[in-house]
Amino acid sequence: MKFNIRLNKTENSKLSEVDFDNIPFGKVFSDHMFVAEYKDGEWKDMRIEPFGYFEVHPACLALHYGQAIFEGMKASADAEGNAYFLRPEKHIERLNNSARRLCMPEFPEEAFLQAVHGLVDLDKEWIPKAKGSALYIRPYMFADGEFLGVRPSDSYKFIIFTGPVGPYYPKPVSLFAETKYIRAAEGGIGEAKASGNYSASLLPAREAIEKGYDQILWLDAKEFRYIQEVGTMNIFFVIDGKVITPVAGGTILKGITRDTVIKLLRSKGYEVEERPVTIDEVAEAHKNGTLQECFGTGTAAVVAHVHLIAYNGEDMTLPAMETRKIGKFVKDTIDGLRDGTVEDTEGWIVPVKALETA
Ligand SMILES: *Cc1c(COP(=O)(O)O)cnc(C)c1O
Repeated sequence: MKFNIRLNKTENSKLSEVDFDNIPFGKVFSDHMFVAEYKDGEWKDMRIEPFGYFEVHPACLALHYGQAIFEGMKASADAEGNAYFLRPEKHIERLNNSARRLCMPEFPEEAFLQAVHGLVDLDKEWIPKAKGSALYIRPYMFADGEFLGVRPSDSYKFIIFTGPVGPYYPKPVSLFAETKYIRAAEGGIGEAKASGNYSASLLPAREAIEKGYDQILWLDAKEFRYIQEVGTMNIFFVIDGKVITPVAGGTILKGITRDTVIKLLRSKGYEVEERPVTIDEVAEAHKNGTLQECFGTGTAAVVAHVHLIAYNGEDMTLPAMETRKIGKFVKDTIDGLRDGTVEDTEGWIVPVKALETA
């Protein structure tokens, strides 16, 4: 099925104002955005229009009660300038899972794919060419009903906008294993990419930074023993040659990069265990010298190596970066898939197509 997406192109492109050698993260936005409105039980008025402000009512439900969800994905270009997505259908699948948890309407997968292809194709000149850089894509949905009461809205906006991001060479990070605050409890919304999860993490993150650490390593809400994830990344450990990552059992975000990493490593013959991992197991492995690697995975950074984990007043320093074989393999492979230098044997890479309208 083809959806009717109207196209209203901008007359004053801002492309020439961008310094592609020096792109500040998250502050540069491409020329166009996709917008759809949910009213009277259906998605309508789908259009691609110039990027810009829109009005919201002061009683907008999302602003009061947090009925809002988002996604984060990337498009990249190969040496010839052809644009690609990596597993784009996984993002609409997850957005719709988040939507169901927050009593929001699902967005049709085909409409999403048509919209994101059309939008990125239209602004493909905005995809930065430098190695490791990409066009970041932010789909999101929020309740724009005008009503002062806690109930699901009956109207919503779904928007996709994009912006170039420079090469992301994440420095190795230090993690503070948090034993006071929690990110998500069983039965909560930890598995949804819901805005409220991130507002709840701001104060704990600030306190961790004040203590001298980069990010929080979240533990489970009941016992503060089981490792969950990091900020906007899932976490992997390499212990005695085995790759271990916490099982995605409802309290962690099911990262698409996490899934890609697990599949990539298994296809190369590595043993990968998805299971409960305690902080004590990691501390023990550190003590007996079998903790070889630790890295976070997510769309933005791809892989961020961890050089230190603080737990119970002790700083555990991890092995030197030159020894990080598995984390480096994963990062190089995903970067290579994205820029066309590693062959895609899984059908993950999807070429960007021009907008098709009904
Ligand atoms: C988005 C996100 C991730 C990473 O997911 P990807 O699909 O790999 O980008 C991990 N944890 C949290 C809390 C997130 O919001």
